Amino acid sequence: AKEGGRNRIVFFNTPMNEEITERMTIEKHLRNALDNNEFELHYQPQLDIKRNAISGFEALLRWKNPELGSVPPMKFIGIAEATHLIIPIGEWVLREACRFLCKLEKAGYNGFNIAVNISMLQLLQDDFAHMVMDIIDSFGLNPKQIELEITESILMESYEVIAGKLKLLRARGINIALDDFGKGYSSLNYLKNLPITTLKVDKSFIDTISNTGNDKSLTDLIVKIGRSMDLCVVAEGVETQEQMDYLIKHKCHKIQGYLVGKPMQEADITKKIEEQNKI
Ligand code: C2E
Ligand code: CA
Ligand code: CA
Ligand code: CA
Repeated sequence: AKEGGRNRIVFFNTPMNEEITERMTIEKHLRNALDNNEFELHYQPQLDIKRNAISGFEALLRWKNPELGSVPPMKFIGIAEATHLIIPIGEWVLREACRFLCKLEKAGYNGFNIAVNISMLQLLQDDFAHMVMDIIDSFGLNPKQIELEITESILMESYEVIAGKLKLLRARGINIALDDFGKGYSSLNYLKNLPITTLKVDKSFIDTISNTGNDKSLTDLIVKIGRSMDLCVVAEGVETQEQMDYLIKHKCHKIQGYLVGKPMQEADITKKIEEQNKI
């Protein structure tokens, strides 16, 4: 028993315990984050290669807590999902992104697209499709300007339910992007059976472009798959001109990454649009 006791003490002093404590602290603060107005959306531009113009933005969630400081999505999205807080937070994200798009339209910046990340947990809510349409309609936006980004998930049992909802939204004109494409294992099935309009090539494939070996031919193949299915192909995490040149050569449609622009505050977006128009 003594041994066990000592072992337990040793166990509770390991980094694993710190991780648990951190998760609990984050969860505690996350519960009040919406009410306390601690969230903000940043927007990352997407460059349309053919038009050489910014065609839209991906909305990315930012959280600044007085006690914890800036907490990256990597650290809190998983916790928001585990606690189901992602449902009200995700609804806030969509409403906020639509509010911004509406503001752009009113300022004369017309026809941009906004992509919003959607958690599978949100998709599983009975009223998800209605919630999305209600928000879009309340701002008088054209659903074609809205893109929902979904990722592959382990929730395969609910596949039919999810497919049904996505088809409903697609029928209203909303675009559906398959995020992080190539990272998982069932991507091709998703492409075949879900009403996908956009394929986002995962950064890990973009990173191989600088390699000397032939693993970058896989990137080329993914672009080809997307194009052959009439999808809009977006490259994620493009950081260098070399990557951009390769993607242009291999007929990728859109580029997103630090090379075009980092995720930025609302106020900087119109500046970015004006700047790009001059190039
Ligand atoms: P994601 O959807 O794959 O978003 C792309 C991530 O890559 C973003 O990280 C973005 O800042 C980063 N990124 C973009 N360009 C570059 C680049 O050129 N180089 C590098 N190194 N990184 C780049 P972020 O904002 O930290 O978000 C991380 C993840 O958190 C997102 O990955 C997404 O899965 C999740 N997330 C963010 N906002 C939301 C949200 O509103 N709802 C949900 N459910 N998930 C979100
Ligand atoms: Ca995304
Ligand atoms: Ca992604
Ligand atoms: Ca992701």
